[in-house]
Amino acid sequence: MAKITNKHKYKKRPPEGFSKIETTLAKFAQKLKDAESKPLKLNRPKHEGTWEIMQLNHQRSRYVYDLYYKKKMITRELYDWLLVNKLADKDLIAKWKKKGYEHLCCLRCIQVSETNQGTTCICRVPKASLKDTKRGEEKDVRCVNCGCRGCASSD
Ligand SMILES: [Zn+2]
Ligand SMILES: [Zn+2]
Repeated sequence: MAKITNKHKYKKRPPEGFSKIETTLAKFAQKLKDAESKPLKLNRPKHEGTWEIMQLNHQRSRYVYDLYYKKKMITRELYDWLLVNKLADKDLIAKWKKKGYEHLCCLRCIQVSETNQGTTCICRVPKASLKDTKRGEEKDVRCVNCGCRGCASSD
């Protein structure tokens, strides 16, 4: 019988350094799995069901991004490998490198679509300019896409 050496079905063997971050990534994978199988809460809008998944995806991508770009704790090889194996969202990370998008919550919020009435998401609007229109009151801003409370760079 063939011996199974890889627990997971990764493309290629993980590069050196993977063992140091494996535990954290496994925790993310478990949380994602739990979130995906969680039943919807009663009396809550349906779109909220994906919020947790979107937020976990964000957190995991941010973790990988920080490891490589901020803390410089992983090699380029490992970083690329993580992206190939979809352990971080490469498109989302690409946005974080752009000015004004450093805190972007998810890709859906910058897609101009019917859900956003033809504009980018409310969470992309700086809080300061939302306040002006609301006579100084702070509105509880939460987008429908991922439950973000505001991710404009000036917030
Ligand atoms: Zn956002
Ligand atoms: Zn979002």
